[in-house]
Amino acid sequence: MEINEIFYSLQGEGLLVGTPSIFVRTSGCNLRCTYCDTTYAYSKGTEMTIQEILTEVKKYPCSYICITGGEPLFQKETPKLIDSLLKKNYSVCLETNGSFSIMNLVGKKSFIISLDIKCPSSGSQDDMNMNNIFALSKDDQLKFIIKNKEDYLYAKEVLKKYNPICTVFFQPVWETNPKMLASWILRDGLQVRLSIQLHKIVWGAKRGV
Ligand code: SF4
Repeated sequence: MEINEIFYSLQGEGLLVGTPSIFVRTSGCNLRCTYCDTTYAYSKGTEMTIQEILTEVKKYPCSYICITGGEPLFQKETPKLIDSLLKKNYSVCLETNGSFSIMNLVGKKSFIISLDIKCPSSGSQDDMNMNNIFALSKDDQLKFIIKNKEDYLYAKEVLKKYNPICTVFFQPVWETNPKMLASWILRDGLQVRLSIQLHKIVWGAKRGV
């Protein structure tokens, strides 16, 4: 597999926010979101076997693993990596951009999916596989990155139409003031959680954290 980086930090987003986690960042992405904060993951990474990845993650005192990107499902070995990590008793979270089907991944023990649905400002809205929302279990999570009012209204419509059973996060684009988004959520009484990227607050908006 092509790996961009492996590092140990705090989970900054979603249900496991604040949880020490090992991050396995795969290389390559099929999308080009306008606000992407990991453009450095687009290029070719270091070729590693699954065994080499297992050896690397074992160096850290942690049983939580977040597989992120880039887009992890852009690489065909990722499902095998997930199974190998689960066999070693890691709890695994897969962060995926919503364009690849997750149908063959759901239902695994100690495994959650963090699924993005891209909003209009991303430029990737038309690449989403919306049927993925129906595959999510209550333990998974759905994330909308929101830059402006148009994105917010779009996310609201998606929730109304697809009625997901999992926890939903609305996360402002990092450079955006979260107050406006918070006030819209409160005004509309939405059953979603505001997500601020904790790791960037703690370490700054930089690579490897
Ligand atoms: S899916 Fe993620 S990594 Fe790919 S372009 Fe969009 S934000 Fe960047």
